[in-house]
Amino acid sequence: MEIQHLEFLKHLRPFPRHVYLDHNATTPVSRRVRRKMNRVLKHCHGNPSALYGSGRKSAAVLEEARQQVADAIHAEPGEIYFTGCATESNNAVLQSLSRHFYPGKKKIISSPIEHPSVLRTLEFLQAQGIVVEYCPVDRHGRVRLDELERMIDGDTFLVCCMLANNETGTIQDIPAVATIARRHAALVLSDCVQALGKIPIDVRAWGIDYASFSAHKLYGPKGVGALYVRQGSPFAPFMHGGHQEGGMRAGTESLHNIAGFGAACRDAAKLLAHAEPIRALKRQLTQGLKEIKPDLVVNSPETDGLPNTLSLTFPNVNNAELLAVLDQRGIAVSAGSACSAHDDRPSSTLKAIGLSDQAARATIRISLGCDTPARDIRYTLKVFRDHFAGRTLLVSMIEPEQLNEAVLFNENTYVLDVRSQSLRKKCKSLPNAHEASFAALEKCLRQIPKEKHILVACQGGGLSYIASYYLRSKGFELVSNLRGGVSGWKKRHGDLYQKYAGQNVTVLRPAK
Ligand code: PLP
Repeated sequence: MEIQHLEFLKHLRPFPRHVYLDHNATTPVSRRVRRKMNRVLKHCHGNPSALYGSGRKSAAVLEEARQQVADAIHAEPGEIYFTGCATESNNAVLQSLSRHFYPGKKKIISSPIEHPSVLRTLEFLQAQGIVVEYCPVDRHGRVRLDELERMIDGDTFLVCCMLANNETGTIQDIPAVATIARRHAALVLSDCVQALGKIPIDVRAWGIDYASFSAHKLYGPKGVGALYVRQGSPFAPFMHGGHQEGGMRAGTESLHNIAGFGAACRDAAKLLAHAEPIRALKRQLTQGLKEIKPDLVVNSPETDGLPNTLSLTFPNVNNAELLAVLDQRGIAVSAGSACSAHDDRPSSTLKAIGLSDQAARATIRISLGCDTPARDIRYTLKVFRDHFAGRTLLVSMIEPEQLNEAVLFNENTYVLDVRSQSLRKKCKSLPNAHEASFAALEKCLRQIPKEKHILVACQGGGLSYIASYYLRSKGFELVSNLRGGVSGWKKRHGDLYQKYAGQNVTVLRPAK
């Protein structure tokens, strides 16, 4: 074929690379799980509570999954209740036990590095009169057992301590926590969400009373969790209604999700076999990053944490910028702070292990999966190397002080506000802003003028970083990110905020 016939090839973009290194956020559904779920969706339509044939068939699927979850954690099937998610499991235990013990006993001891589904629930209970105390942790986030021993007393009805931390991968000595609790007649709840499929779990041998789990962290579906309640431990229903789950959790069971959870648990033992290869890849990545950035700080325990989890602080680097650069090259990692689509606050876990706000905002989390290939680690190292050698696209920054009337009302300025609806309610938009939530940005691209200076704003300046890099990668040449976001501008220019915020705002409509 003549060469001019191949001319069109130069217009083709190279196949985009996707490297997923955020398995602690969620995991892809495995093929075996998907197959099981499809079979259930196709063949098991009966309500598991119904007495006729198709109902009994569904009930059998439900009980098979219950057995599979129980087997994965060394429990009895009668001790497993299916829930909508681990957040619900944690809420159910904390709220049910508070009702059960209060006001006879009033105290819960927890740790400051728990997941928000625990921390926010504890805040709620505190407002109801429950006394909540947080046991200090060491540099890696390990609960100080001597402090726990000192804090626990006859008024304590529950010790709540996660098995493995989602941000740092720190593993707690849960059997030791349970021994201390038992000596003082306190019960133990352990959030085991991040541990299942990564390290062995034996709820019976460890002597814990309650444990929460979530399918989507071990290659199962989203929207289904489980709660282990040790035989004989107090527990009252959180959801009221029908008699499902032995009357402990009302609502028709999400059968295909539960079956998927069971299938994922059946594979849990196989997942454990991946631990060492994953740990070796993590070591390779850490080593490579230390060579690229010698001042790198590793927050995760070097040897005894989760095999897949790496919390890394890059001093004087904005984690939002790093995330944006990686995202633009197809790599998904996460940050414990400042970059979530909904929350700009630094992570409480990172603060509890002693990081300053600034260090927390320079921290990212990388979490490998059982199928992460070595080539993904090599590619990731190359992207980091390129970035720190200055070989990446640039986005300019605009400081809140600089954002005066002259810039705001310049006809060449196009203000793009990428916040979600809920954040816009908290703080009004910049004048003349064009609102397109980050999730809808891709479908609004054609409405954004390429020739103008695009000024991207979010609530705190993190998410807009990612949006700015995204726009650069889509051919927008003049893009600036507003440092500190709309809330930073409001702080610096309270007068302008009062006078102009929310004026002449246009909502961009995503293309169909
Ligand atoms: N606990 C931990 C440690 C987690 O990492 C998560 C999810 O990120 C949860 C609880 C909440 O799980 P779910 O998404 O099922 O509510």
